[in-house]
Amino acid sequence: MRNRWASFLFGIVAAAPLSFGQIAVAVSPTQERADSRPQGSRLEQSAGSPSSFGPLVRGESVASVEGAAGQEPVRRHVVVVVWDGMRPDFVSEQNTPTLWKLAQSGVTFRNHHSVYPSATIVNGTAINTGVYPNRSGILANHDYQPEINPKSSIDVENARVIRKGDELSGGKYIGVSTIAELIHNGAGKTAIATAKTVGLLFDRHAEPQNGQTIFAGDSTQPDAVTEIVKTLGAFPAATQPGERDAWTTKALVDFLWRNEIPAFSLLWLSEPDDTEHKTAPGAPAAIAAIKSSDDNLARVLGALDRSGGGRTRSTTDIFVVSDHGFSTIARSIDVPKILRNAGFDAVTELTGEPKSGQIMIVGNGGTVLFYVIGHDAAVTRRLVEFLQQTDFAGVIFTREPMEGTFTFDKARIDNQHAPDVEMSFRWTGDKNQFGAAGMMDGDWQRAAGKGTHATLSKFDMHNILIAAGPDFRRGQTDELPSGNVDLAPTVLAILGIKPATAMDGRVLSEMMNAPPLKSETQTIEATRKFSGGTWRQHLTISRVGTTEYFDEGNGTLQRQD
Ligand SMILES: [Zn+2]
Repeated sequence: MRNRWASFLFGIVAAAPLSFGQIAVAVSPTQERADSRPQGSRLEQSAGSPSSFGPLVRGESVASVEGAAGQEPVRRHVVVVVWDGMRPDFVSEQNTPTLWKLAQSGVTFRNHHSVYPSATIVNGTAINTGVYPNRSGILANHDYQPEINPKSSIDVENARVIRKGDELSGGKYIGVSTIAELIHNGAGKTAIATAKTVGLLFDRHAEPQNGQTIFAGDSTQPDAVTEIVKTLGAFPAATQPGERDAWTTKALVDFLWRNEIPAFSLLWLSEPDDTEHKTAPGAPAAIAAIKSSDDNLARVLGALDRSGGGRTRSTTDIFVVSDHGFSTIARSIDVPKILRNAGFDAVTELTGEPKSGQIMIVGNGGTVLFYVIGHDAAVTRRLVEFLQQTDFAGVIFTREPMEGTFTFDKARIDNQHAPDVEMSFRWTGDKNQFGAAGMMDGDWQRAAGKGTHATLSKFDMHNILIAAGPDFRRGQTDELPSGNVDLAPTVLAILGIKPATAMDGRVLSEMMNAPPLKSETQTIEATRKFSGGTWRQHLTISRVGTTEYFDEGNGTLQRQD
């Protein structure tokens, strides 16, 4: 039987023509070898020699961590820790001593990307599935799906919404299998603990035999939480994000890991996102919130060090990732009011029957979704022309091709649930009141001076990824583009699980045991002339093989004097 990891990599390379970039992974079917290694440890190397090319290239038998054939097989463990909203420029020896030290023993991916829109649930789903929003169907944190709620927008991770969505789609509310589902299909177990509601999307079926999932102090297996509450007390109030993170970390380490550390574990911390929304990037409280996530990471690493008589850490790959970056709001823009003043029938909630040409507006912080009822072409055209002449529009995407816009497929957000028009707000590299760069206009739901995200700003679209463990090189930095869509394919490759359908992301093999890869970057532009000036928007896209990463996008009306 072929080495599954090699064939998996080859499958990704062969799955689509590499018309754009360079060949991604130097692995070919001729590198097959007898598959005599134990299930669940596809990349066996002696712990501490992550740069070995052994398993993929030489084809010799490879010792397990115990070092001798015939001993108990060594399984790989993967632990993913998400620091919500963590920006790369705040990782330092002083701010994040534990993460800093972990990075010295592993790889820092210095050009890591969110998917667009750079919002939590969208990126949680990208991490969870390895595909872009167009294939997962999770296009925004809040969108409008009239078959689920005809009157107003929905929170896409709400339990009732998910249940309804799965009913309506025959179980395809998320359009592809999640990482947890793929691991369960391979008889592996998972432990998922998230301080925010995003956890339910990782394993919305939550069969007890597959492990436990806890999200925002809740679980689809209520008994699990009852027992935790007896020891840790009730899940803390929403006003105490740091306490919620500590509670969730203890739930994972002391309860979900009590009997065994499963193949895959996820811990999602709400900080620094929560505090950066209430303050701003660089605020003293936000720096303290970053330290609290570092303390929780230390608890996780300590538990791994103690587990299995000290052996578990050497068989565990740890990923620390953020879902998105962060910006500071320069101006809060009341888009519904501005559109109504311009004569549009624009609403955020329907009181009566929807009328053709009405616009349902759904704010997502740095991005706004516009649903034109009945897909009225004249209203859509007038709306786009209006937005292109404002001083707050950054990049405008449309369902149908239009002058001076990009179609949804350019950002991988083309899906049946997509709106008619989607706009990322305009942004700059200016500094905020605490000296942190990255200012943006934002929607009407938060005030100027506070933090938010979800635009195509480079400050929102770049986030952190640090990976350390037996399968990764040590003390390296990777300048090659990587992104949240790469997490699932990389984790599954480590665990030796092949997804049923190809993922959009790639295995981060260049920092494991494969040769370097190449990338290329391209900027696309769209323009439209008006009597008062020219609208000009751009989107910068990097590619490694067929995987695309959105670096940034912005736009402006250049006035003619
Ligand atoms: Zn987030």
